[in-house]
Amino acid sequence: MQGYTAFIAYLPVQNQGNFDGFIAGVFAVESFLDNALRTEPARDYQISINFDGKQYYSNAQGEPAAAESWTTERVIRLQDQVWTVRIAPTRFFVASQESALPGMVLAAGLLVAALAALSVRYILISRLKSAHLAKSLALNAGIISSSAHLVIAIDPQYRIMIFNKAAEAALGYSTAEVTGRRAIPIFMDAGELQARAQELSKELGETIVAGPDIFTRIPLRDGYEKREWTFVRKNGSRFPVNVIITPLRDDLGAISGFLGVIEDITLAREMERMKSEFTAVVSHELRTPLTSIRGSLGLILGALAASLQPKVRDLLEIAQSNCERLMLMINDILDIEKFSAGQMRFDVSVLPLGGVVLQAVEANEGYARKYNLRVDLAACPQEWAVAVDPDRFIQVMANLLSNAAKYSPPGGMVRVWCEARGAMFRINVRDDGPGIPEDFRARMFEKFSQADSSATREKGGTGLGLHIARRFVEHMHGRIGFDSEVGHGSTFWIDLPAA
Ligand code: ADP
Repeated sequence: MQGYTAFIAYLPVQNQGNFDGFIAGVFAVESFLDNALRTEPARDYQISINFDGKQYYSNAQGEPAAAESWTTERVIRLQDQVWTVRIAPTRFFVASQESALPGMVLAAGLLVAALAALSVRYILISRLKSAHLAKSLALNAGIISSSAHLVIAIDPQYRIMIFNKAAEAALGYSTAEVTGRRAIPIFMDAGELQARAQELSKELGETIVAGPDIFTRIPLRDGYEKREWTFVRKNGSRFPVNVIITPLRDDLGAISGFLGVIEDITLAREMERMKSEFTAVVSHELRTPLTSIRGSLGLILGALAASLQPKVRDLLEIAQSNCERLMLMINDILDIEKFSAGQMRFDVSVLPLGGVVLQAVEANEGYARKYNLRVDLAACPQEWAVAVDPDRFIQVMANLLSNAAKYSPPGGMVRVWCEARGAMFRINVRDDGPGIPEDFRARMFEKFSQADSSATREKGGTGLGLHIARRFVEHMHGRIGFDSEVGHGSTFWIDLPAA
């Protein structure tokens, strides 16, 4: 019909029960089917209608599904006319029908299997762990109980948890007697606890009473504390100990108590005392004859010098200078022993810093002349004052100045100056000598330490001077140190609190 395919529908019309003709309607097939099939269904299905082998209608929009098996074809015969209707789902439709269920089932299955495997592993590991833990606990208990050192551990409430066999033997208390009790004070010296409380209060700048804080504050701050104490046995007798206290922490890092490992140092103290006594006696015994030898040599070289043959005089001069060295060494050793035994007196008074530094430089002038050196002293402000024992301070300065002179190049210059550094005053002694070798720096203030300890070394000395200097300076609440660059000299300094 006029170039497009259509069908005509006839509807019989009746008028008061009598047939009165037809109403005919012409429907274009294309637009009729399009209205019904082009929109929604077209997305899901591709529908085509063929008549007499010729395509009559198709709503083709989406691609048909790949599988032919999903295509349905029906042949309709109307009298002798053959119509074919073909319906194929589109790819879009097939995809939308694919359910996520199988994937979900697979994932859930895998998850359950993995969880089951994990829980089996966890059970196995925790069994192994508890077996291991039991073994290591037994090992730890064995170590603690057989330790030669006293081991005492307290809980966060300061009650005794561990008191090993060595502690029982040394203190005379049984483990049962002290476990669970805040028993520490019964085996400590009350006076010592009070003194430590005062010392700590000063150090920390707050009031520390003679209680558990004395033992826990420093380990909590520094990780551990090592200190000598006096322990009191059950029978009242006393003995010196070296105590190392460390905080105990649980897996989460919370404090679960404190561990004290204690060494009885009675024997070590006795040995030290005997050694000191021996050195003091020997040094004294050496000093007396040496003083008389030195006196005699001085007399001969002074009054009788003119009557001596040059060779004899040379020999006597060598003997005199060796005598001086021996004397210095003996004095140093006696100083150390006296200081260690607490027998050295310090007469501390508040003095102007400039004055004592000048005195020290003047006392050392002879040394400077001997080495042909100039000493350049920068004046320090009048009002700067320090609390020192002047003799000990001059002795420390003499060591720094004589070292600077010894190690300066001939004709060189030693500089001395003071500076303010916060609440301290610093006295510097600078030389243009060889500097301090890197590998020697850490040992600088140790007893008998010398950078060149060979028998052929040029400079005399005992290696005791700086050790004594540090002990004296620290006793006067100061610090001593140095800055040095190899090949570019050294600056030794003393920091003293401003008074
Ligand atoms: P000593 O009696 O040997 O001088 P000290 O304790 O005073 O003993 O010094 C120890 C060592 O430090 C010296 O032997 C020397 O090696 C080194 N030393 C000290 N002062 C200086 C300095 N100003 N320059 C270079 N080395 C120095």
